[in-house]
Amino acid sequence: MITMKDVNKWYGDFHVLKDVNLNIKKGEKVVICGPSGSGKSTTIRCLNHLEKFQEGSININGTELIEDVKVVRHIRSQVGMVFQHFNLFPHLSVLENLLIAPTWVHKKPRKEAIETAMYYLERVKIAEQAHKYPNQLSGGQQQRVAIARCLCINPEIMLFDEPTSALDPEMVSEVLDVMVELADEGITMICVTHEMGFAKKVADRVVFMDAGQVIEENEPNEFFDNPQSDRLKLFLEQIL
Ligand code: ATP
Ligand code: MG
Repeated sequence: MITMKDVNKWYGDFHVLKDVNLNIKKGEKVVICGPSGSGKSTTIRCLNHLEKFQEGSININGTELIEDVKVVRHIRSQVGMVFQHFNLFPHLSVLENLLIAPTWVHKKPRKEAIETAMYYLERVKIAEQAHKYPNQLSGGQQQRVAIARCLCINPEIMLFDEPTSALDPEMVSEVLDVMVELADEGITMICVTHEMGFAKKVADRVVFMDAGQVIEENEPNEFFDNPQSDRLKLFLEQIL
């Protein structure tokens, strides 16, 4: 489903991704963790071409990611992304936020797009807020809107970049609950998070990155109970 092969990326002189290899099967849930600055965000941003890479290859669902407008558009239509800071349009209502991609990019009729949007807003338990503006919602509610917005394009793959780390503690679980539900439905999911409880519950595999490299990956029990590298041992000591 997703293959990253020997991906290397530089920001100027700074070698940020070093031979990153990842293979993710359809339906798999993968959690990426690692210290700040290790390249987790950069890695997942490469998958939908929010960042370019200079060496190696990325294949998404059979399509080689190359710098071609049509290819990028095709890949983005299959890959939804949820960010730490929600990235909702503040001047648009919740519902209008959910209509942009379906009506402008995918040319869906507005009526159909509204039906789909309301369906997903109900799924994330926020339909009654459809006509509010983002700043009238709590952080947890805004993040659920952001997830619903992604789902409106019916993606095959969802990328999450620390979706709960900007939230007040009491709002973390309402967002994680939605993510657990999505995971149970079989969507392919890559999630950068420090929520190790979520990783244990949901992940098929946990990947540890440090200094631009994938250091270790394993199914959650082994990953947490039997870390191999000193770097992962140290990291787990610090966060658990
Ligand atoms: P965090 O846990 O803090 O979110 P991360 O693992 O997601 O960290 P990245 O955001 O991928 O890390 O950044 C990896 C490295 O690349 C960092 O050292 C960062 O400073 C650097 N970096 C990120 N974006 C840029 C950029 N646009 N230009 C130059 N350097 C960058
Ligand atoms: Mg990051």
